[in-house]
Amino acid sequence: MPDYTGKSGRAMVLQGAGQPLRLEERPISAPGPGEVLIRVTACAVCRTDLHLVDGELPNIPYPIVPGHEIVGHAVDTGEGVSIEKGVRLGVPWLGYTCGRCRYCREQKENLCDEARFTGYQIDGGFADYVLADHRYCFPLPENYNDQQAAPLLCAGLIGYRCLRMTGQAQNIGIYGFGAAAHIVAQVAAHQGRSIFAFTRPADDAARDFARSLGAVWAGGSEDDPGVKLDAAIIFAPAGELVPRAMAQIRKGGTVICGGIHMSDIPSFPYRRLWGERVLRSVANLTRADAREFLEIAPLVPVHTRITTFGLEEANIALDQLRGGGITGAAVLVP
Ligand SMILES: [Zn+2]
Ligand SMILES: [Zn+2]
Repeated sequence: MPDYTGKSGRAMVLQGAGQPLRLEERPISAPGPGEVLIRVTACAVCRTDLHLVDGELPNIPYPIVPGHEIVGHAVDTGEGVSIEKGVRLGVPWLGYTCGRCRYCREQKENLCDEARFTGYQIDGGFADYVLADHRYCFPLPENYNDQQAAPLLCAGLIGYRCLRMTGQAQNIGIYGFGAAAHIVAQVAAHQGRSIFAFTRPADDAARDFARSLGAVWAGGSEDDPGVKLDAAIIFAPAGELVPRAMAQIRKGGTVICGGIHMSDIPSFPYRRLWGERVLRSVANLTRADAREFLEIAPLVPVHTRITTFGLEEANIALDQLRGGGITGAAVLVP
């Protein structure tokens, strides 16, 4: 067993709501039973990290290391773990479930009453090293290098779960064309569906990007694409998009909110819901989602567009994500 005495690694640590992440040197801990110690080689930045930094999620256990789209290599394993050293692993948002509650028993572990999440309740991947429960780590498709694979682990997985919730929808609107949308659009186009991209006002770069990924239409969130949508997925955290999306879907259509946090939804006339329209959220992911999506991604094939930052530039990456300055996904490279 390797000796970690006196060895340390860098971590970008959140000390409290609204504070910038602070660089710390932390001692490396040996993995406990069921755990794997991973040397992080890439960690993508998600909008959820912004909600965490802004204190918009409940009961944040400060200090915490954000980051839940982790790619790295096993350097040591605890008791009961058969992963070989050096194996490449991906660590997603879902970090622990109880296996006993009604949700776990009904194959809805994403809703587990006692779920714990990477980079929220478990120290995450904005660091040189991370400890993870081996049951929630995944082998990654070989076609992707570490940096390109990182955004698959949340933007890809949660986006894919949202896409699945659209059922057989042919015309799908996407509100907010960031990391998740850029992956979903590729999968949807591969499945022969039509994507309509709704972006911030006058965001020509995002619209060009959406069209380059196969979107049949791209415009502003207040624009009318000229056809009724079968479904819409909202990734942007802006509640006012909900009534707008509801107004664009046909009878029987579904609007899916894919983010963990959203500003309040303004009231809207009942007729926008009438006609068996459905409004729902998608929360977290199951391990089955992960296995399914990681098989599909290389077949599409999904190409991730990334902008890389050093670990110590995490605050810059978060600022750029907040300002809409990232095309595709931001990835930290320790
Ligand atoms: Zn995420
Ligand atoms: Zn459970």
